[in-house]
Amino acid sequence: MKYTEIKINTATPESPVSKIMIIYTGGTFGMSRDKNGVLVPYDFSLILEHLPTLRNLMLDLSIISFEHPIDSSNIEPEHWQMLGKIIFDNYTLHDGFVVLHGTDTMAYTASALSFMLQGLSKPVVFTGAQLPISETRSDARENLITSLEIASAKIDGRAVVPEVCIYFDDQLIRGNRAKKVESMHFDAFESENYPLLAKAGVSITYAHAFIKQVKVGEKLTWLPSLERNIAILKLFPGINEAIVNAILSAPNLSAVVMETFGSGNAPSSQWFLAQLKKAIERGIIIVNISQCPGGMVIQGKYETSKALEELGVISGADMTIEAAITKLMVLLGNYPIYEVKQLIGKSLAGEVTAN
Ligand code: ASP
Repeated sequence: MKYTEIKINTATPESPVSKIMIIYTGGTFGMSRDKNGVLVPYDFSLILEHLPTLRNLMLDLSIISFEHPIDSSNIEPEHWQMLGKIIFDNYTLHDGFVVLHGTDTMAYTASALSFMLQGLSKPVVFTGAQLPISETRSDARENLITSLEIASAKIDGRAVVPEVCIYFDDQLIRGNRAKKVESMHFDAFESENYPLLAKAGVSITYAHAFIKQVKVGEKLTWLPSLERNIAILKLFPGINEAIVNAILSAPNLSAVVMETFGSGNAPSSQWFLAQLKKAIERGIIIVNISQCPGGMVIQGKYETSKALEELGVISGADMTIEAAITKLMVLLGNYPIYEVKQLIGKSLAGEVTAN
C-alpha cells in the first residue's frame, strides 16, 4: 500500500493562512465511468480538472493521494494505519486535514481514526460525494470547499473543530457518531444520539457546546495496532443455535458486537444464554449494541437484558455499530484484555454517553 504527494501550483496566499492537507483515498467523489458506464476510482487529476478553484483558494494546500484510489468498500485496517500515519507524521506542519473518502464505509474509517489519533487539537474532516465531481449536479464541490473551510476555521488561533468529523450535505457530524443512512439522495449521513457539530448555510453555524474542547497540554499520540478477530452477531426472532454457535466458536475470536433489540434486550432461551456464557468463559468480550438508531442499551431495565448483565456482557450504551467495532479493534490491538473491558464503555473520543 502506497501513497504519493501531488504537487499543484496554488495562488501564493497572503500570510497568515492555514496550511491544510488533503488526503485522497478514492470513492465516488473522484470516480469516472468506464466504457460500460460502471463507476471506477480515478486519480486526483480528474478532481483538479473539475475544481480549478482549488488552485486559487487562500489556503496553503498539500495533497496526498493513495497510489491506487479505492472504492471504500475495499477499505482495510491497513488503510486506516496508513491514513493515521500520514496524519501523525504531517501533524505539526498543518493546521487541519481533509480526507476524501467513499461514503460506504466513511463512518467506519472516521470512527477508527477518532480512536487511533488520541489527543487531537486539529480538525480531521472526512468528506465525499454521492455523484462524481465530473457530473454536472455533483455534490462534490460544495462538500470539499466547505470541508476545507471547516478544517481551516480558527478562533484566537485555535481550531474550531479539533476532532475527527464528517462533513456532508450541509451537516458536520462527529465521526464516531455518524451513520450512512441514504444511498440515493445527497443527505447520506445522520448523527446518532449526538447533536450536529455545525450546519452550513450562507455561513457555517458551529454548535460550540458540543464540539470537543482541547485540554491544556493535550498532545497527539497514536495507537497503530488493530485487532481483526472481531464479529458482529445480529439477533433476530428465530435465530438458530447452530448459527450462533458457529459465530461464537470461530477460531481466534476476541470480541463480538451483539446487536440486540430495543434497550439491549435478547432472547432468554437457555441455549442462547448458555452459548454466551461459554464464550465469555473462553475470554471473548461481548458488547451489547442496540439495533435501534436512537436511545441506549440499559442492561437490567428488562428481564431480557438482566441475564446479559449477569453473564458479563458489556453494555455499549449508545455507541454506533461502526464505533463499537472499530473501538474494539483499536483497544484490543493496543491494551491488555482487562483494560479493554474497562475502557469499552468509557468515552475515548465522544463516541458514547455515560449512563
Ligand atoms: N461505493 C462508493 C464508495 O464508498 C460510494 C461513495 O463514495 O459514495 O467508495
